[in-house]
Amino acid sequence: MKKALVAALVAVLISVASYANHSWSDYHWARTTASFDLTFVNSTTNDWDQYVSNALSDWSDSTVLNMVEDAGGSTSRQVRRRCKGPAGAVRVCNLAYGNTGWLGIAGISIDTNGHITTGYTKLNDTYFSQTYYNNSLWKQSVACQEVGHNVGLDHQDEDFNNGSLFSCMDYQDPPHGFPNAHDYVQLATIYGHTDSYDSYDGGDSGGGGGGCNAPPGKGCNKGDAPGNNGATGWGISLGRRGQSETFMRIDPDGTRHIVHVTWAIGH
Ligand SMILES: [Zn+2]
Ligand SMILES: [Zn+2]
Repeated sequence: MKKALVAALVAVLISVASYANHSWSDYHWARTTASFDLTFVNSTTNDWDQYVSNALSDWSDSTVLNMVEDAGGSTSRQVRRRCKGPAGAVRVCNLAYGNTGWLGIAGISIDTNGHITTGYTKLNDTYFSQTYYNNSLWKQSVACQEVGHNVGLDHQDEDFNNGSLFSCMDYQDPPHGFPNAHDYVQLATIYGHTDSYDSYDGGDSGGGGGGCNAPPGKGCNKGDAPGNNGATGWGISLGRRGQSETFMRIDPDGTRHIVHVTWAIGH
């Protein structure tokens, strides 16, 4: 009897563990320590500051990382349009990027060892200024979700009609603004090992950045057409699932630039 009960408990634990697996590929920052401080340069305007600060402090409840806000990021239009992440850090920007179809995007650059070296998050005010998205729930949720992608998390669930998981990594309407326990478990798994070097905070230099703000084939330079690895574009689509899609562009030196796109509803 006791043995059967133990077996049943193990089975439940295994199903919970597999349920919690929502890492974004195997993307993660390299660190030599069990926990690390990742700088997020806040280049958003005042109306976004609270949402960004909330997201960073919520994710910092993780035992394996702290998201440290650098509140001194430039908010010039030029900086926000490109939103290039500094080497070893992440930049967060908002702007009316136009009718691009996307609500938010998270970009990361991966070195040839497979580690994230820089990242950025863009929040598209063209949609956030529309009635449907112009509220604290949507803004908090997307800010939380995009910076979650910046550290290697994917969505827990992408069906808007499923019951809420009460996580910003869950597609839900109305959305949820904060991480849940599964997200912290997943981060602990992703960052459960240490690496031989640090790829954050001036470690390995990254490069990259989010030049083009339009989907492939819909503007920017000709190199951004689908199937073409332009110098500043998103590169090729790795596939779309519902409202999310991933793109990749590879530099001649092997650096990969990956973009996680959240399409606005109806796009
Ligand atoms: Zn590693
Ligand atoms: Zn997402």
